Amino acid sequence: MMKLESIIGLEIHIQLKTVSKMFCPCPTIDRAMAPNPHICPICTGHPGTLPTPNKQAIEWAILMGLALGCQIASHSKFDRKNYFYPDLPKGYQISQFDLPIATGGMVEGIRITRAHLEEDAAKLLHDTSKKTYVDFNRSGVPLIEVVTEPDFRSPEQAKTFLQSLRLLARYLDISDADMEKGHLRCDANISLREIDEQGLPLSLTLSAKTEIKNLNSFRSVERALFYEIERQTKLWQEGHPPSVSSTRGWNEEKQITEEQRIKESSEDYRYFPEPDLTSLELTPFTEILQGKIPELPRQKIERFKQEYKLPETEAKLLCEDLALSNFTEQVLSELYEWLPKEALSSQEILGKFVSTWLVNKLIGFLHDRTITIDQANITAENFAELLSLIFTKKITPASGLIILEDMIDTGADPSQIMQEKNLESVFDENIVHEAVQIILQNNQNEIERYKNGEEKLFKFFFGLVMRQMAGKASPEMVEKILAEEFKKI
Ligand code: ZN
Ligand code: MN
Repeated sequence: MMKLESIIGLEIHIQLKTVSKMFCPCPTIDRAMAPNPHICPICTGHPGTLPTPNKQAIEWAILMGLALGCQIASHSKFDRKNYFYPDLPKGYQISQFDLPIATGGMVEGIRITRAHLEEDAAKLLHDTSKKTYVDFNRSGVPLIEVVTEPDFRSPEQAKTFLQSLRLLARYLDISDADMEKGHLRCDANISLREIDEQGLPLSLTLSAKTEIKNLNSFRSVERALFYEIERQTKLWQEGHPPSVSSTRGWNEEKQITEEQRIKESSEDYRYFPEPDLTSLELTPFTEILQGKIPELPRQKIERFKQEYKLPETEAKLLCEDLALSNFTEQVLSELYEWLPKEALSSQEILGKFVSTWLVNKLIGFLHDRTITIDQANITAENFAELLSLIFTKKITPASGLIILEDMIDTGADPSQIMQEKNLESVFDENIVHEAVQIILQNNQNEIERYKNGEEKLFKFFFGLVMRQMAGKASPEMVEKILAEEFKKI
């Protein structure tokens, strides 16, 4: 039985959120507005116009290059990539060919071939009557194209990498990197290779690859690659693996890839240096930008683990969203200020406690309401106060949940809600004792069963007492008093 492995590489376009376009002063705003208000002779390719490069875009491309662990070129230039298509009336795209801004990086074990800067093309809109319209709002918007080496061995790995890249762009604050909105677009190329029983390749030459276009969501990246693996596996097993490289489009509706054309090679584009732009001397920029790289996701996760003793899984989850990670940071630093010294003696316990409340409770409530942390009314300061009330046992976890929901919806202060709803924990033994007596009197049958060995009924009684106390009794006290009472019967 033939064994095959998949060899996958990605090409990702990231749309930068600069104020103006790559080579003209038109705004880049992409709200759902009418087509074509944000255009000028430059971005619609009128003859005789001259491009002026966007400094911000160049700086952001350098920043991205640095974050990807790349070498930044000391000097770089723009080139014309020639092709004929209605989305590009001037007949060429200004891109970069042999001197890209960044080369040779590494992210999470995946080698980055290069990252370069280029302009986006217009958007074509096809209607049902087979007419095609051109919207030039997108034409000339700056893009960073990131190309990886074929280092992925599975569709999941490719998807995970793409998600990391999105996060990186967000941490660098250079793109919203929303795949659904087209800020992040991905082409994937894939070929198969025969391997032996040990998983070692039988040949080091890669066979003809398929490039899959039109992948607009993380799910479609994964599905299209799975589809292509299946399709190519069949070809291998039938004895005729793909012999020429081709381009295929992902059909979201049919969930299949369809052949579009035999892939063009770079010669077909007749790249040549853009004569209307001078070359770029990048070293002075790079030196300044090196000091401006913000804390990146991996570093933040590590710091959360080290500094606050958050468990790995929770730290990762919280750092997957920049706003949430900032919220977490604020909550923790507030808590560290407020909590008594004894509470900080076991950082592990505190770290576990805080991350559980953030991940399991807060995120859960946000999820129920389909809102993000920015959209919720709750402040980090108030959330920290709530956690300190729970941690110091002024309120029970059950009351904490009631207060938390209220805080998310109203933005109110936890102590205030606690007082208004009378949720302060009850530590008075007499009151708890009274509640225990009532429950025992009302559940004689269960007491008999308990006496006959059904010890798991202890939980049942515990629950009833807590309910009797409206969730406000100290759980430890309820447990203690119940145990004492059961000894007597
Ligand atoms: Zn323009
Ligand atoms: Mn490109």
